[in-house]
Amino acid sequence: MRTVSPGIRSTDTSIWSDSILCTLPSVHEAQSSEERLRAAALRVTRPRVAVLDAVREHPHADTDSIVRIVRGSLGTVSTQAVYDVLRALSTAGVLRRIEPAGSVARYEARVGDNHHHLVCRGCGTIVDIDCAVGAAPCLLTDDDHGYVIDEAEITFWGLCPACARGREPSIGGDITSTTQPEE
Ligand SMILES: [Zn+2]
Ligand SMILES: [Zn+2]
Ligand SMILES: [Zn+2]
Repeated sequence: MRTVSPGIRSTDTSIWSDSILCTLPSVHEAQSSEERLRAAALRVTRPRVAVLDAVREHPHADTDSIVRIVRGSLGTVSTQAVYDVLRALSTAGVLRRIEPAGSVARYEARVGDNHHHLVCRGCGTIVDIDCAVGAAPCLLTDDDHGYVIDEAEITFWGLCPACARGREPSIGGDITSTTQPEE
């Protein structure tokens, strides 16, 4: 049963206790980065907006890429400042930090929906996988040991179509890329 209204905040963890949901509608898509920061009770600063914009435009980007993108939009900004913003936004639930085995940390702005990731062993491309629609089977364990479970971190591994065909992906042919190969 869906009880999530478009007004729900990404940091509102009560959604898990109210009803176990897998895939939330993209209620955040229409929100500006400023609005997302305010909804999380975070002060709106230019570095925060620039970092959030960068991650929204480049899902699963790593820190180095985010620093590059933010420098492109803000001009000078220290690597440490970007690290600090990434940490603050992750702690507040505005960003989700993922770290597939063998990969550096990556960030995404799609939060709170228990989606999973599919990673290419060949080129490192990461794509989102919806858990299921209407229910989150991965959150239902045989025995929860009394824990209140709010996330199942699942990574599917394989080869993207380009790598499976034994050729370089047309875009994003290295492990640091977050770009999906285009067909
Ligand atoms: Zn690949
Ligand atoms: Zn994702
Ligand atoms: Zn799942």
